[in-house]
Amino acid sequence: MSATISSAPSEIKITETQCFIGGNWVPAVSGKTFATINPATEQEIAQVAEGDAADVDAAAKAAREAFENGPWRTMDARDRGRLMYLLADRMEAEIDALAALETLDNGKPLKDSRNVDLPLAIDCLRYYAGYADKIHGSTIPIRGNHFCYTRREPIGVAGQIIPWNFPILMTAWKWGPALAAGCTIVMKPAEQTPLTCLRMAQLAKEVGIPDGVINVVPGFGPTAGAAVVKHPQIDKIAFTGEHRTAQIITRDSADTLKRLTFELGGKSPNVIFADADLDAAAMGAYVGLFLNQGQCCCAGSRVFVESSKHDEFIEKLQALTARRKVGDPFAADTEQGPQVDQAQFDKILSYIDKGKKEGADCISGGNRVGDKGYFIEPTIFDNVRDDMSIATDEIFGPVLSVLTFDDKDDIIQRANNTFFGLAAAVWTRDISVAHEFAARVRAGTIWVNCYDVFDAAAPFGGFKMSGYGRELGEEGLKAYTENKTVTIAL
Ligand code: ADP
Repeated sequence: MSATISSAPSEIKITETQCFIGGNWVPAVSGKTFATINPATEQEIAQVAEGDAADVDAAAKAAREAFENGPWRTMDARDRGRLMYLLADRMEAEIDALAALETLDNGKPLKDSRNVDLPLAIDCLRYYAGYADKIHGSTIPIRGNHFCYTRREPIGVAGQIIPWNFPILMTAWKWGPALAAGCTIVMKPAEQTPLTCLRMAQLAKEVGIPDGVINVVPGFGPTAGAAVVKHPQIDKIAFTGEHRTAQIITRDSADTLKRLTFELGGKSPNVIFADADLDAAAMGAYVGLFLNQGQCCCAGSRVFVESSKHDEFIEKLQALTARRKVGDPFAADTEQGPQVDQAQFDKILSYIDKGKKEGADCISGGNRVGDKGYFIEPTIFDNVRDDMSIATDEIFGPVLSVLTFDDKDDIIQRANNTFFGLAAAVWTRDISVAHEFAARVRAGTIWVNCYDVFDAAAPFGGFKMSGYGRELGEEGLKAYTENKTVTIAL
């Protein structure tokens, strides 16, 4: 799938803006709508139905009905997989339009939507489509004259709440395993970026995924999101977002004891030893932080470089950053678009301010770009200390902190000195150091001499406050199943 940049914002048609419940497009029961904003222009793109508890209730009932009585769970698993392949094919056929819609709503460069997000999302659906007919239990030799076996059954109705940084990709990560397992879905997309998830629901309908299997309720977190979390007909919550929201979800789901999987934030260390290929490491640090406007939960936001290579590394990193094209996300040469909204924009600028006040050296960027749209310069802080807020807090923007180290044991301890544990990377030619780092750093993903390598087959998720459970791979699928033990007297 190669790049074709063909859409201009004015050509993009917005066709889905309502709640998708039981296979129908319906307005919110309250009649309310909210604006979704183009972050490059700060202008409204469309009004979208503002779902709340009443709409979630209708969606949960539709999903429950489809789960209990619909054909999804009981159809031949291979046919379920076939429908998922059709959805992936349909997305591929519409790849340019979906990418343009994603860019319009989120602000990420069109070439990233088209060449990264969409291909990964399609690949994820195909990966899980192939799993649909390969979900099975085992036979177990227990004591006595019994035949014992397990069944892997779908968990039921899955409530899925996603953020705005990768709207299509997060939709695919959530739908893929749920659909393969035979679950039905109530999804709440992020209020900043509802459009592509809604469009995917329409494509799912058109390829023949039965009514009620996928339901989408756009709206806000404390209303629509909380209603999903509390609904008694929903069995599981899969959530991606902030750890503080996950804490609220944990409390709100206590009464119904939902199964929970959380993929949360990070403050991921990216550690460069003196023996590393420094060009590759500089590129890894650059991409690992600035990808997606810095709005990645696994962003390598603490870059530790061995002191002896500090100056050389900074030179390479600054050279890369100086060339970075920030601007219109629809322009073919743009590498960085706007931040997603005013709130993120303000938060990032306030962290840049804090970094300066706390005494770190802002050696690149540090300012807004232009006076319209939420654009921020790629920013590098040097001489950062571990206790500065830019080194401890998740900024979720294009702000890279460089720290130095001299000792392996010390750097492993400092890499671990965070309550997050989503990802970490190490750059070295010494295989022993790489393995030791991989074993001792407490994070769900360790990259060695690379960064941001994702694959639908490789589990992803966090240690510590970065979440629990894993998405992708077989583990991601199992999170949508219940294990049932059947014992028969012989
Ligand atoms: P972010 O800062 O990335 O927006 P959030 O955790 O606030 O992270 O949002 C991620 C998703 O969680 C969004 O879809 C949002 O609407 C939803 N959300 C926010 N608050 C709640 C809540 N109290 N209950 C359920 N979902 C919520």
